[in-house]
Amino acid sequence: MKKYNFSAGPAVLPREVIEKAASNVLNYNGSGFSILEVSHRSKDVVADMDNAIALVKELFGLGDEFEVLFLQGGASTQFFQVPMNLLNENETAGYVNTGAWSKKAIKEAKAFGKVNVVASSEDTNYSYIPKAYDIPSDLKYLHITTNNTIFGTQFQELPETNVPLIADMSSDIFSRPIDASKFDLIYAGAQKNMGPAGVTLVIVRKSALGTVSRYMPAMLDYKTHIENVSMYNTPPVFAMHVSMLTLEWIKSQGGLTAMAASNEAKAKILYDELDRNSLFYGHAVKEDRSLMNVTFRLHNEEFEAEFLDRCKKEGLDGLKGHRSVGGFRASIYNALEAEGIQKLADLMRAFEAEKA
Ligand SMILES: *Cc1c(COP(=O)(O)O)cnc(C)c1O
Repeated sequence: MKKYNFSAGPAVLPREVIEKAASNVLNYNGSGFSILEVSHRSKDVVADMDNAIALVKELFGLGDEFEVLFLQGGASTQFFQVPMNLLNENETAGYVNTGAWSKKAIKEAKAFGKVNVVASSEDTNYSYIPKAYDIPSDLKYLHITTNNTIFGTQFQELPETNVPLIADMSSDIFSRPIDASKFDLIYAGAQKNMGPAGVTLVIVRKSALGTVSRYMPAMLDYKTHIENVSMYNTPPVFAMHVSMLTLEWIKSQGGLTAMAASNEAKAKILYDELDRNSLFYGHAVKEDRSLMNVTFRLHNEEFEAEFLDRCKKEGLDGLKGHRSVGGFRASIYNALEAEGIQKLADLMRAFEAEKA
């Protein structure tokens, strides 16, 4: 039986990416060696890194004012590396608190400067994206989490401000086009929508750097990695390589406009069923629903285990919700095929026919 991976992360990757990666594990570009055993200074790995950087720039339409880095430590390291590189102790950064990941970013930033939480949706267990709020114009930057993986909400529009934006895009990177001109920095752990765990993408505007006065350990200074094209030390070669293959796949599918169209159509299948079905209800308010993570529950929680069991039997895996929301979470990233989502919607309908 064909299986569908609804896991929040590490998550589904395109089958052809996995097949190419597998072949390069056995014999990298016909070299007779595995990609797992070659030097990061070898010609082919350097070419892969250059290609991955070029693809990020091409897909996002970034000019030479931006640098693209492939780092380690996950998005969680960016929670502190961002303020460490961009925020002086006497300066204030704005943060929008839209969930567990934002909260962690806020906590870490406080160790490096002043933090102004300009808006929060904590009052309703993060079921919405805050809209009308003041953004002081003297903030060093405004940090947002564009997609809230746990709660299933997503910014549909960027906040209106002239303050430079910084975004944690871990779970919706490359799912839709972005307006790069608004950002000073974007980061994403690879393992949601780009590749395997172990590599973190950082896109930074060069002019945003060099304004902090604290001592910076070389490994934590973005400038070190810019100067060394992400090869100051040994980079996570395989995770970067697989990310590069995924970026090539995205390009071959028609780029970010095509990704957005496909993601909208896929999410619609599930949200339409959620709105029609009398057994289930969604966690996120309609206008802020995520196209990547669909969070939903049963009115009658007694049926939860049974529904999950039925999903498993149909080959639909990874649907258990995060403990802080409960119920179910369908993560429907770029690479998840529409037919898997249709199968889930059909199962919800059949379940309703039985139980309602
Ligand atoms: C998963 C996730 C993180 C944490 O990523 P790590 O790479 O595991 O540190 C941070 N932010 C968001 C939005 C996420 O989805």
